[in-house]
Formats: sequence, C-alpha cells, structure tokens
Amino acid sequence: MKRKKTFKQGATLPHIKNTAHSPTVVMPAPETITVPMQQHIGAPCKPVLQKGDRVKVGQVIGDSDQYVSAPIHSGVSGKVAKMDIILTYDGRNVPVMIIESDGENEIHEDVKPPKVGNLNEFVKAIRASGLVGLGGAGFPTHVKLNLPNEADIDTLIVNAVECEPYITSDFREALEHTEHVIRGTEIIGEFLKIPNLIIGVEDNKPESIEILSQAAKGTKIQVQPLITRYPQGAEKMLISALTGRKVPSGGLPSDVGTIVLNITTVSFISKYLETGMPLVKRRVTVDGTAVKNPGNVEVVVGTSIRELLAFCGGITEEIKKVIMGGPMMGIANYNIDQPILKQNNAILALGKELGDPPNETPCIRCGRCVSRCPMSLMPVNLDLFSRRRDLEMLNRYHIMDCIECGSCTYNCPAKRYLVQSIRMGKTLIRQQPKVKGGK
Ligand code: SF4
Ligand code: SF4
Repeated sequence: MKRKKTFKQGATLPHIKNTAHSPTVVMPAPETITVPMQQHIGAPCKPVLQKGDRVKVGQVIGDSDQYVSAPIHSGVSGKVAKMDIILTYDGRNVPVMIIESDGENEIHEDVKPPKVGNLNEFVKAIRASGLVGLGGAGFPTHVKLNLPNEADIDTLIVNAVECEPYITSDFREALEHTEHVIRGTEIIGEFLKIPNLIIGVEDNKPESIEILSQAAKGTKIQVQPLITRYPQGAEKMLISALTGRKVPSGGLPSDVGTIVLNITTVSFISKYLETGMPLVKRRVTVDGTAVKNPGNVEVVVGTSIRELLAFCGGITEEIKKVIMGGPMMGIANYNIDQPILKQNNAILALGKELGDPPNETPCIRCGRCVSRCPMSLMPVNLDLFSRRRDLEMLNRYHIMDCIECGSCTYNCPAKRYLVQSIRMGKTLIRQQPKVKGGK
C-alpha cells in the first residue's frame, strides 16, 4: 500500500455513505422534461428550437457563441411543448425548454462517435458533447482542456475523492465503469501530453482504491490513497495533498502545472468518444432522512426532483429541506418541481430532524472556525464584515478566496451562519460596478 497523503486543516466529518452499495438503477424518461438553457458556469445558451418543433435524443436544443459555455441537448424524443422561464435554486431567472416525450427515445442522426485525431479536434468534440464538471462544479470541460500555449502542465489529477457525506455517485462510477475511468484518463494524458496521471481517492473507499489500482496496472496511471479529510475534493486542497503545490490566491490549477477533473467527467469522455451520445443523463445519489428508498439513479437531465423522489418510493415524512448536492456545499432548493441539471450529483431530502436550521447564537470568539479553514481565512471576521457590508475589509480579508466549503460553519459551537453570510459578502463584492478602463 502506498503512503497516504493529505492536506492541512479542514474538518473530519462522519462517514455517512448509505448508498455506497446501491448499484445504479435506470429511471425511465418522464413524460415531460424541463431543460434550463444554463446548466454550467459561463454564458447561457440560446434555444435553437421553437414551440412545436420535433426533437430527438441527443439533439442540440440550446447553444451559445461564447467561449465559456456548453451546448445543451435533449434526453428524450418528442416535441417542444413550451418555452418558459423558471426561478432557479440560486435565485436566477433562466429560460427553459419544456419537451413532451413521445416515449420512443429516437436517437438523433448526429449522434455518432466523433472523429478525433488531434488536440484541436478533441477539444471541439468535448465541447460538442455538452460536458461540464460532473462533480457539482458545472465548469465547461472543453475550457479546462483548452490550455494556453504557455501553460506547462505536467500533472493530470483525477478527482475521485467525493468527500461530502451522503454522495456516492462518483464511487459507483469507479466500481461500475472502471475501464472508462482508466481509458478516459489515458486519453486526456495522450492528447494533452501530460506525463503524470494521478487518481486521488480517500481511504474511506477501499473498494475504489483496490479496483482502480488493479485496472491501472500496466498503465502510467498512479492511484494515490488519501487520508480522509474534508474538503479534500476541492481542487486547491487536492493539488496540495497530491503534489505539495499551492495554487496562489486568485490563481488556477494550471498556474502550478496541474489540471484537475472529476472522475465521472473523465469516464464520460471515454464513453462519448465511443458512442457520440452527448450529456443527456447522469447518475444522482438520492438520500436523506425523508426518502423511502435511497439509492443511485441514472436520470434524464430535466427530470423534476419530484418525479425522481417518487421513483425512489416517495417520501416518509414532510420534507423540511431539499439540497441539490451534498450537505456541506450543496444549495437548498425551495421547489421540488425544479429539474435535475447536468452538474447535480445528489439530491438530499431531509425531514424535521436534520432539515430545520439550528438557532444562531452570538460568537464566543473560540477561534475554531479559523483553525479549521483550509484556505487560512478568518471566517469570524468575514462574517462580521459581511453583515456590516464593509466591502473594503472583506477585500482586505480575502473573502474571494473562500471556497464555501462550510468547514467553519460545521465546527462553530455558536451555530453561526458563517457560509451564508460569506456568500452574501461575495455577492456584494461581485455586484460592485467595474471601474471603466480599470483592471
Ligand atoms: S471561510 Fe470559506 S474556505 Fe474557510 S472554512 Fe469557511 S467556507 Fe471554508
Ligand atoms: S467558531 Fe463560531 S463562535 Fe467560534 S470564533 Fe468562529 S464564529 Fe465565533
């Protein structure tokens, strides 16, 4: 066994992975899907079909001419019933295309393996697939792969950490699609000419370490066990744990010669090059105290949370909170009629015991939030300055370096809503008008 690695600070969380041994179950496509025109970081797409148009599985239904964006495809065949606007869980009004399925699942004629002979064609193909970071980030993958000429990348890190409680979607990918994980890693390494290929896995997933290590024998890929520690799945922490390199404030992984991709994202690349089927489905871990039959479900993008929960046997008690993502970094959703997005790796439906927010009390100046912050920030001060709307002090205390991991909130004995407050502070900074001609 290799020596295990990790990073400094962070938190130890309980090992709650109820669905780890629940193999993926395929949910039939629903009668109607609601597909938002923005399911990624970057510019939203514009619909390329209209009400009444016929549509097939894998057909492009939305696209953008902006560089940081990703096309959107239909996961069913049928017809466009309506264009609408929904208020998303993060407070944006986003256009959606509502598609009525004909139940035929007819595949569009453009769905065929792409011809990929060089890096340029590879990046173009990944853009055409609509791929975004499937670990929850939603950053368009083709942008990550299209490195500037001067970037000197020597290490590809495949992120199989999945450090948040409950989520087991990536774990199931490692077990159920091991060959695609290995092949996808090799393909990226070959096209980008990256010499070091590392898959990082925490030691609370020994089956994953074992199966990936066996499959990687005879390849250049190293499977590196990591001491379980939250938030090791965050890019900066993972780079530090695996390479000892520190991404500078405001910098990118490429600044320290690395590129980090989620394990399911990497596996998708291998599958896409074989089949040409774009990103229209994904695995979602469905769990939480209010879910009757928790599990891992392959679901068409655009299916509503309500239908997904019904597929899992329905609910056992009144839902107090639905989280899209994990309990630490996920976002609470106010409406279970919202659709599943490309980047949704988990839906947690929580009942009274876990769903009610704790009562906030005054700070007792214990400093625990500071000692647990993996970014070496001072959450107690960021909270104070956010509530005071003191933008100058927020900048001075590097609020934009916060990765919103929640380690501070989790460890605060006064139950301060630190992350929520810091998110508000970051929003205030982003809303500041840009100075004309300034940098
Ligand atoms: S301040 Fe930000 S980065 Fe630091 S622990 Fe809190 S949420 Fe995480
Ligand atoms: S952990 Fe909570 S109580 Fe302790 S200093 Fe930080 S904000 Fe205050």
